[in-house]
Amino acid sequence: MAATVKDYYQTLGVSKDASQDDIKKAYRRLARKYHPDLNPGDKSAEEKFKEINEAYAVLSDPQKRAEYDRAGTTFEQFGGFEGFRGFDFARGFDFGDVFGDIFGNLGGTQKGPRYSRGEDMLMGVELTLEEAFTGITRPLPITRTLNCDSCGGSGAETFQTCHNCKGTGLIQTAKGFFKIAQTCHECGGTGRKVTSVCKKCGGRGKNIFTETMKVKIPAGVDDGSVVKLRGMGNSGMGGGPSGDLLLEVSIKPHKFFKRKGDDVYVQLPVTFGEAALGAKAEVPTIDGASMMTIPPGTQGGQRFKLSGKGFISPGSRRRGDEYVDIKIIVPKDISEKAKDAIKTIESLYKESPRKGMK
Ligand SMILES: [Zn+2]
Ligand SMILES: [Zn+2]
Repeated sequence: MAATVKDYYQTLGVSKDASQDDIKKAYRRLARKYHPDLNPGDKSAEEKFKEINEAYAVLSDPQKRAEYDRAGTTFEQFGGFEGFRGFDFARGFDFGDVFGDIFGNLGGTQKGPRYSRGEDMLMGVELTLEEAFTGITRPLPITRTLNCDSCGGSGAETFQTCHNCKGTGLIQTAKGFFKIAQTCHECGGTGRKVTSVCKKCGGRGKNIFTETMKVKIPAGVDDGSVVKLRGMGNSGMGGGPSGDLLLEVSIKPHKFFKRKGDDVYVQLPVTFGEAALGAKAEVPTIDGASMMTIPPGTQGGQRFKLSGKGFISPGSRRRGDEYVDIKIIVPKDISEKAKDAIKTIESLYKESPRKGMK
């Protein structure tokens, strides 16, 4: 549960008050150093590269950076296999821009991205209402495409530098006054040519893996909530970040609780005597039983509120309420003795309950 908070500033080796320009510079320097193409088969470089990308995706965007700074040390569900709410970064982040810069692309007609984020995946998960209240960690089999572990995603067992572009992936051509860089047609912009294809993935660079992961679903989710597990989707291309795994929550109907937003509704059956004379009754709540006072003269359908006995709102951390609707149960199987007693009660009514309806 206690996941460590990633320090993006440390990842990029910049101070907390670094300017956007400093961040960009630091990122470029590190991305050049750890780029998978320059470190083929080096797992630790690949990991480092992913971390750098993640850090840059957040810190390069002033709004995401501000969110990250605000979240500071208080958030705990971050990265790895744990869900992370309300912090939607790394989506729609255009790595092409930055890599274009790094590799000297002058805006030529590049065909197909060399670096791209992996696709998101959507899965359904069904919880009980109690599980939705507490949050759970559940093992889930997740099938996704990941970089081939044999070739590290390159698709090649062996390759050589492309002679046409000398490994840059780009061909410079002059057009009038301008020099235009175009993707090398020989190697498709990868800068290298496969001399033998990886046997394990058949050159795709990816394989389908199924792993059982412990997935954390945070407390307070509702029917239809989507929990995002960052980086748990399909792996990206060319060292691009992985997509996310989106878990769509459905909640099984409960025997007696109904939920609306953060509030919980329950019908509480009481006897005529409890309603008329007042009583103390045990009421179920989402996190255990609670004692409630039924005042004398309580009517059927009357609603009572148990403050703070509802769901914990994931956003505000404030708790909703429980609403208790009184249901007076009239016995069906009545003895002669009970009949007499009821007749006595009937004779004590001073006026018709339907008096006002005439
Ligand atoms: Zn392979
Ligand atoms: Zn080439």
